Amino acid sequence: MLDLTYESPKPKVIAGAKHDWELVIGLEVHAQVASKAKLFSGASTKFGAEPNANVAFVDAAMPGMLPVINEFCVEQAVRTGLGLKAEINLVSAFDRKNYFYPDLPQGYQISQLYHPIVGEGEVIVDMGPGVARRVRIERIHIEQDAGKSIHDMDPHMSFVDLNRTGVALMEIVSRPDIRGPEEAAAYVGKLRQIMRYLGTCDGNMQNGNLRADVNVSICRPGDYEKFIETGDFGVLGTRCEIKNMNSMRFIQQAIEYEARRQIAIVEDGGKVDQETRLYDPDKGETRSMRSKEEAHDYRYFPCPDLLPLEIEQAWVDDIAANLPELPDEKKARFVTEFGLTEYDANVLTADTENAAFFEAVAEGRDGKLAANWVINELFGRLKKDDKDIGDSPVSPEQLGKIIGLISSDAISGKIAKDLFEIVYTEGGDPEAIVEERGMKQVTDTGAIEAAVDQIIADNPAQVEKAKQNPKLAGWFVGQVMKATGGKANPKAVNDIIAAKLGL
Ligand code: ADP
Ligand code: MG
Repeated sequence: MLDLTYESPKPKVIAGAKHDWELVIGLEVHAQVASKAKLFSGASTKFGAEPNANVAFVDAAMPGMLPVINEFCVEQAVRTGLGLKAEINLVSAFDRKNYFYPDLPQGYQISQLYHPIVGEGEVIVDMGPGVARRVRIERIHIEQDAGKSIHDMDPHMSFVDLNRTGVALMEIVSRPDIRGPEEAAAYVGKLRQIMRYLGTCDGNMQNGNLRADVNVSICRPGDYEKFIETGDFGVLGTRCEIKNMNSMRFIQQAIEYEARRQIAIVEDGGKVDQETRLYDPDKGETRSMRSKEEAHDYRYFPCPDLLPLEIEQAWVDDIAANLPELPDEKKARFVTEFGLTEYDANVLTADTENAAFFEAVAEGRDGKLAANWVINELFGRLKKDDKDIGDSPVSPEQLGKIIGLISSDAISGKIAKDLFEIVYTEGGDPEAIVEERGMKQVTDTGAIEAAVDQIIADNPAQVEKAKQNPKLAGWFVGQVMKATGGKANPKAVNDIIAAKLGL
């Protein structure tokens, strides 16, 4: 496999302040495991069900109910860990994180504080061709989601929906290696892409099955390098955590706002308080929710209802051996195998459906030409109709045939666009359409010569002008194209005109 080398982007510097400030960002991403059943019960995880329709006794914390771990969820966490090139811990354990919330009937959340199932890994975050940030992953642990309190349905009452209670989450914790708002969004995007390739999380941010807590601090240039050298968090600024962000755009806006807020405080001689904040997208600002709690505030202790989770290396090896090709590898392969630019390879590997479509088109054909047609013509046309690749009226076989017709010089690029539109709107076999509608390119030089002779004979004045100024030969090319319905091979036309005019 080709190892795409890249350079690190410069950290984002916030301008307009008295000093230069850089951003330091670490994310805790909560990804809902793509499982039909919850983490410790058989209740369904289906989105959009009637409130409280999907609640097992254990989810409702009925007395005496015991959690039973869902092996499928454990497997998805392992797959995700392997996808992030992380170390898998064969022994992990569940802890109770105690806090009261109306939508958390147990009075605690079962999580993994001391012994997470996944250890250190990494994500390569693409920031444009040849530029990428390596973000280290600190850990991934498995935990239960809480339910939902609904405050806006009734003026006097609040409601609780426990459908989400007990759904399995993977919490993916990054090191503070993200250095700007765009990188933070791109990091979430890359995690989402990897998990969608793996099938471990749907990554639907609108439905809340991928959300991020965003930790932001500011530091002076050089401080971050000192942190990397020494591992001492003390050289970094105090961080604030912005909770529960479920939009890439809001993540960026919140970080921008938060950086400026912290800079204003520090430059004014103040101190940033470590706290948990919420982003208000309507106002475009973050506001304090509570002062930051520490792990000991939650009185974590090992969950007595669950044994330590022991998995076997052979099981992990088996999962590893059956991982699909991941985005970075697919991208590198597209660059080497099909000769694509990194930019095109990025577009085509954005999701597995696009990639599979492209591969089917490019199979045995000119890869660059195929990429061009898939990205510019097909994606462009689908976008116009607000369609996904899954609803494409043109199949990979049809598009492949169109490209084959171009490569064999049977049709010109211009005619190919007309042909594409016919196939897109009417369907049909491109090769048959070309035959039936007489769209074949005229490469028969005799026919082109006859057309050129006719036009020369009809336009003696133009011939004289073109002999004085060879640039005017273009006029003849246009006339021949018109006379042949755009089907004449352009190169042959140019050559014949040049020869006949003696240019
Ligand atoms: P907690 O669970 O209490 O929120 P963690 O130690 O797990 O705290 O860290 C949470 C996140 O905060 C991690 O992603 C980490 O990289 C990030 N982080 C830690 N220190 C800083 C800092 N100074 N600036 C920005 N992010 C930070
Ligand atoms: Mg946190």
